[in-house]
Amino acid sequence: MARKETTKKEITSCIEKWFLKTARVFPWREEDFPWGRIVSEFMAQQTQIDRVAARWPELMSRFPTPESLSSSDEQEILSLWQGLGYYRRAKNLKQSAEVMTQNFAGEVPSEVNELLSLPGVGKYTAGAVASIAFDKRVPIVDTNVHRVLCRLFNNSNEPIPSKWTWDMAEELVKVCRSPKIFNEGLMEFGAVICTPKSPECNGCPMQSKCEAYGKGLQNQIPKPKKSLPRKQEHHYAVVVQSGEELGFEQRSSKGLWADMWQVPTVDSSRTLNKHEVSEMLQLESELSRIGSFEHILSHRIISFTVFSCRMSRDSRFTWLKSEDLAELPLASAQRKVLAVHCVT
Ligand code: SF4
Repeated sequence: MARKETTKKEITSCIEKWFLKTARVFPWREEDFPWGRIVSEFMAQQTQIDRVAARWPELMSRFPTPESLSSSDEQEILSLWQGLGYYRRAKNLKQSAEVMTQNFAGEVPSEVNELLSLPGVGKYTAGAVASIAFDKRVPIVDTNVHRVLCRLFNNSNEPIPSKWTWDMAEELVKVCRSPKIFNEGLMEFGAVICTPKSPECNGCPMQSKCEAYGKGLQNQIPKPKKSLPRKQEHHYAVVVQSGEELGFEQRSSKGLWADMWQVPTVDSSRTLNKHEVSEMLQLESELSRIGSFEHILSHRIISFTVFSCRMSRDSRFTWLKSEDLAELPLASAQRKVLAVHCVT
């Protein structure tokens, strides 16, 4: 028992020293304040960290406080979120800002149970914000932490999320010097050293403490997750033009790309011909097929077919000139639709 406690202290101390020396530079680390942290956590769910780093300053400059986001129009955050994907996160961030403004005097709450009351905040984000922004002694587990702990303790059978990993992360954070440094360091260590494929074991500061490395099992731990086959969908987008303007509609507030804007589009689980598309969108003009592309998301592959037509202005659509489109919240698939139209 005594030997195990020493090992855990050695592990936390090693991670903290490593992180203090090598931490990557990100804007939310340079301007360290709780609101900036929680925004970066929302942005980083499912998005590569370099893309988050490139976009975070713009978001913070427009919404420097929870109150500023709370009082804005939702379309503004959706517009700034373009290209980051998973737009539900932008809506959750806005709703969280509203809760902070109403219930927490416009501040980011510091306790895990308070953070869990915010829309879109689960156990991981609550732990990350409480520990990294407020130095609370609470654990966090993401896929990086899970992988590092499974390898260090040679545990090959744990699915993520697992009770074992959360318990182990908690035991470690209890004995570390600074929860803020240890938790962020552990995640970063998994992201840059103890990576899923080809971990950098040579030169790894944890090598002598790593049970998987000692047994040569680091590449087999954790076991890869079985990935589900992606769902195939067919979307039919029609670029409708009236004079110099294009017609747009807003998607439903539920499901994929909720509340984002698009050219009139039919989502279908089967292939459709242009007459069916025309009928479903109630367009009377003749459609011309101008291109197609595949758009791949984590759980689906969408075949886009793009048509164009000319028609007189119709009040069902919002009509915009191309110079007005930069601010319109369009998912990246719809930007590709417009690109198909521009090159034809
Ligand atoms: S020795 Fe290899 S597997 Fe073990 S912690 Fe270091 S990088 Fe990860």
